[in-house]
Amino acid sequence: MRNIVFLSGAGISAESGISTFRDAGGLWDTYNVMDVCSAEAFRRNRQFVLAFYNKRRRELAGKAPNAAHRMVAELQREFPGRVLNITQNIDDLFEKAGCQGTVHLHGELTKARCETCGHIWSIGYADLVGTELCPRCGAARVRHHVVMFNEQAPEYTRLYEALDGLSADRGMLVVIGTSGLVLPVEEFARYAPYRVLNNLEPQEAIDDRVFSVHMYEKAGDAAPKIAELAHHFLSAGRGGLGGRRADIVF
Ligand code: NAD
Repeated sequence: MRNIVFLSGAGISAESGISTFRDAGGLWDTYNVMDVCSAEAFRRNRQFVLAFYNKRRRELAGKAPNAAHRMVAELQREFPGRVLNITQNIDDLFEKAGCQGTVHLHGELTKARCETCGHIWSIGYADLVGTELCPRCGAARVRHHVVMFNEQAPEYTRLYEALDGLSADRGMLVVIGTSGLVLPVEEFARYAPYRVLNNLEPQEAIDDRVFSVHMYEKAGDAAPKIAELAHHFLSAGRGGLGGRRADIVF
């Protein structure tokens, strides 16, 4: 049975009012990445890094999902077990949209993690002040559950398994809102027989000739077209893109 894997980045949440990192006006215009998002920075100044993520978490509280998050949730409802959602994002907008089983490659802002025993739990939109105790082991080594630069990202295993599955099952990879600078999405796309890309504009790190379809527009505008394509793809039998060609361009 054919499956779809969605792989998204900060761009999918931009229309919901969450800053991307690298676009003009993005977070890196205000912060230096290695001062707030690296293992070294956290060792140097724990409070500063916790405060950065507290601010991001508070901003998240009032944010609502947009048409692109809802599109993924609707496809999951329509095609149970055949739409896997993988994101680099640490926000909770897919969950708010009703998505199930989202794989957060870089962690989740609304969760905390114990550095001593590894326990992970939900904290909603509350601040972490650095004196909290782990509810499981009692250690005072509680931190944000976000993968920073120079840290391990255990969920990448799930991504690699999903890519293998796409290759074996003639599946489709839909990439939305990522510059390809953190994850080599162009390389990943080669695993999938069908590949769709949606970004605001072409990115240096992504050779879009690798993709069968590219849509350079806001994710919210692309969402109905992606939904239509996904619907045809998942409804189709073997050996065709629902009567369409794999290199269809909208
Ligand atoms: P990025 O900031 O490097 O790139 C953003 C990409 O989104 C660009 O390719 C841009 O063309 C595209 N984009 C911008 N607005 C868009 C829109 N409305 N519709 C479609 N595409 C749009 O983001 P990245 O590649 O995800 O890498 C940054 C890292 O930062 C990731 O690890 C991510 O976890 C993290 N991050 C997450 C959030 C979040 O959770 N919402 C926000 C900022 C950064």
